[in-house]
Amino acid sequence: MKLIARIKLQPTPDQHAALLQTLEAANTACNQVSEVAWQRRVFGQFALHKLCYTDLRALGIPANIAVRVFAKVADGYKLDKTTKRTFKPHGAFPFNDRLVSYNLKKRIVSIATLTSRAKMPFVISDHAAKLLEGLHGECDVVYRKGVFYLYQCCDVDEPPIDDTDGFLGVDMGVANIAVDSDGTIFQGKSMKGVRYRHRQLRRKLQAKGTKSARRRLKKLAGKEQRFAKDVNHVISKHIVAKAKDTARGIALEDLGGIRKRVTARKAQRATLSSWSFFQLRTFIEYKAKLMGVKVVAVDPRNTSRTCPCCGHIDKANRKTQDKFLCVDCGFSGLADYIASVNIGRRALLSVPNVSDVDIDFYPQRQGQALLL
Ligand SMILES: [Zn+2]
Repeated sequence: MKLIARIKLQPTPDQHAALLQTLEAANTACNQVSEVAWQRRVFGQFALHKLCYTDLRALGIPANIAVRVFAKVADGYKLDKTTKRTFKPHGAFPFNDRLVSYNLKKRIVSIATLTSRAKMPFVISDHAAKLLEGLHGECDVVYRKGVFYLYQCCDVDEPPIDDTDGFLGVDMGVANIAVDSDGTIFQGKSMKGVRYRHRQLRRKLQAKGTKSARRRLKKLAGKEQRFAKDVNHVISKHIVAKAKDTARGIALEDLGGIRKRVTARKAQRATLSSWSFFQLRTFIEYKAKLMGVKVVAVDPRNTSRTCPCCGHIDKANRKTQDKFLCVDCGFSGLADYIASVNIGRRALLSVPNVSDVDIDFYPQRQGQALLL
């Protein structure tokens, strides 16, 4: 599995300037190459290399950085060739092991710039430091709020998947972030509170519409996302640890189903956005993989309408968003909990449709990068 380690660089002022100059020159070069690609309808990395290499070298772009420029532009056109790609001056730029090398013991990294190589210390979390032992291939040079980072791609060993004969069903709801089939409720109360306060503030700022109001709005969104991410990390860790400790697999609803349900409950969409669901799911999946816990995706149809006691399926079983009451046998309970029980059982009964979605963790290709 591939995960990304975030590394904070500590350049001297001179090195900072050199890195910034390199990033800006590389992105300028990307725009130039993109222009050629667009004009001549040539989008392959090697074809662009042939067409533009001499020009880039004449601009003072070192050969090995030029190669990355072609890769970035070609990558940009991979999915869509109908619009011309443009690159922001401080957009993330992909480097590789020819341009970046580490001394992990001393926590020093050597990075290529336009004119030379800059050796500087870096800061990293313990967890990310462990990941770095498996570092390989690409990294992104990222410039955010005046600070340089490397987002380094790392290979992580996956232990063999444990044999299981039971499943912990997990229902990701709206009222509760997640409920498992043991009856544990992961509530987003504090998250909801934060979101509510933010929503009020957001309205005010939107009404203002000034430049500073827009800046504050952006800041607010970032704050909210970081908070939701922390919550998702905690919940996913808890769920995976529990499944591991009790020698069970984890059963989730098929992603398509979750998305549909979120859309259906339009009124609550403001409370928890769909990216947050996707993120929680992604976190559960990768943490499970790291611990050898099996994850199964089940058909989400009627999970919240089926009575776990008598099997009666009826829309009327779901009295309200919170309450389940079987119209046939009278069995009742918390709706999200009933759903999680059904999800867990479905995984056990159906031929497991192992959720082996290969998620591309690389930030350039996936809007939601997985950073550790
Ligand atoms: Zn029933």
